[in-house]
Amino acid sequence: MAIAEPPVRPRTTLHEGPFVTEPFFDFRNEENARRMRSAIAKVRAQLGHEYDLIIGGKRIKTTDKIKSLNPSQPSQIIGTHQKAGKEHVEPAIKAALAAFESWSRTTVEERTSLVFRVGDLLRQRKMEFMAWLVFEVSKNWAEADADVSETIDFCEFYAREALRFSQAQTPIQLPGEHDSLLYIPLGVGAVIPPWNFPCAIMAGMTLASIVSGNTVILKPSSDSPTIAAKFVELLEEAGMPEGVVNFCPGAGASFGDAVVAHAKTRFIAFTGSREVGLHINKAAATQAPGQIWIKRAILEMGGKDAIIVDADCDIDSAVEGVAQSAFGFQGQKCSACSRAIVDERIYDKFLEQLKGRVEKIQVGDPAENANMGAVINEGSMKTILGYIEQGKKDGRLITGGERAPGEGYFIRPTVFADIPPKSKLEQEEIFGPVLAVIKARGFDHALEIANDTEFGLTGAVYTKSRDKIDRAIQEFHVGNLYINRKCTGAMVGAHPFGGFNMSGTDSKSGGPDYLYLFTQAKSVGEKI
Ligand code: NAD
Repeated sequence: MAIAEPPVRPRTTLHEGPFVTEPFFDFRNEENARRMRSAIAKVRAQLGHEYDLIIGGKRIKTTDKIKSLNPSQPSQIIGTHQKAGKEHVEPAIKAALAAFESWSRTTVEERTSLVFRVGDLLRQRKMEFMAWLVFEVSKNWAEADADVSETIDFCEFYAREALRFSQAQTPIQLPGEHDSLLYIPLGVGAVIPPWNFPCAIMAGMTLASIVSGNTVILKPSSDSPTIAAKFVELLEEAGMPEGVVNFCPGAGASFGDAVVAHAKTRFIAFTGSREVGLHINKAAATQAPGQIWIKRAILEMGGKDAIIVDADCDIDSAVEGVAQSAFGFQGQKCSACSRAIVDERIYDKFLEQLKGRVEKIQVGDPAENANMGAVINEGSMKTILGYIEQGKKDGRLITGGERAPGEGYFIRPTVFADIPPKSKLEQEEIFGPVLAVIKARGFDHALEIANDTEFGLTGAVYTKSRDKIDRAIQEFHVGNLYINRKCTGAMVGAHPFGGFNMSGTDSKSGGPDYLYLFTQAKSVGEKI
């Protein structure tokens, strides 16, 4: 059985009525499992194809290539992609600017019907998209389901939001005037996603941009360009005009940097590491010759997320929540629990139960729906193993602490106890299946430890005490706080997502404020 088993939700009528998140598959149902195996077989037969850059609708080949590999079986090529270089920046910007002339003037109904159509197509091909994620980033079936479901939710939610924004009104009308407020697009954006939610985050930032009337250059992560290519194919099939999304896989440090720095880039929608986010922030703040605006930088970055386990809690659900949050998708979520801060009164009992739970996690090929697949690439595996060696010095190894067998980048789920606050393992984002357990003297101490990093993305508290819940709501300084549940698995609409401090600009994707970031408000007062 998969680690993350999200609840099944009912659906209501598409595109109208209250927004409802996409239901997840229950793979205990043999028919669902059979369909998923057949989607995997279908996608397996398509592995290794070559994909082009798409600039202004034109397919372009380059001499340099990016090869996307299966982390569970690195000898298997998922897709070969062209590699955009600095020479592609000008044509891509020109194509996006030309498309902006017409796309920004389309009606909101035209733009939203495109995005609704994309969601409908994705619903039809959901398992196929999930299968691409199984191969390209080693997600198990439930994790792949969550990623594609969230993508569908973004289609539905942002299209509805764009319609709502188009109905905005000024709080008052002055006598003798018609006063209006129009949310107009910004211009050309650079969309720069990470590989860990390679469908949902890549598509979410792209869809929010285009449904608001912007055009973009989409530079996917070099670890996950194939799923992005499949998504762009879907946009084209849904009727997206040429140049609205220009598909340009390429190196961050050359192509990405040059797009960010370009005078005609109006905004950057980035999700990724703290280091690259800060670099982009700085670059975006520098005025290029001919640049006439302040670039908007929407930056969502890393985390060092904690779950506080109070002495007065349901220990079974705390153990389950910590295990799922720490090891779902191999701990490679910005929201992953990498610190469990546990009250000293239940510390030993918690550790014993957690060890038993974590040792049930099977590591293996997600095509066979193992609980945990491989980490994304060799470099990442080495970094994570380096942190594990550090953990052996700074704490007490409870379980894991080594590679798991297989050709892929498999690492056993690893738990360290007695990790001191302020140590490397307690402060730095590891982005892998490594959990630091920290002993707290009580709730005050736990909150103090939880808040004492430079990040502030997600957090959770397990407690039965109303007072402590209220204190956590007041004092636990994170963008997404959860009470008596895991700290991963934000749902569009219910949990607008974005972090504090070095975790980002708190953009709250999937929330009612998100499209403000992709628009500018024009106020018109007309004498009547
Ligand atoms: P990364 O920062 O290495 O890369 C992110 C993207 O930036 C990639 O597309 C990369 O090619 C590009 N890039 C790299 N250097 C660049 C440059 N100089 N100019 C422009 N673009 C450049 O991050 P990653 O390894 O892909 O993703 C993991 C990180 O993302 C983790 O830190 C994780 O916490 C974070 N993340 C955050 C959120 C969130 O919502 N806060 C969500 C998912 C992932």
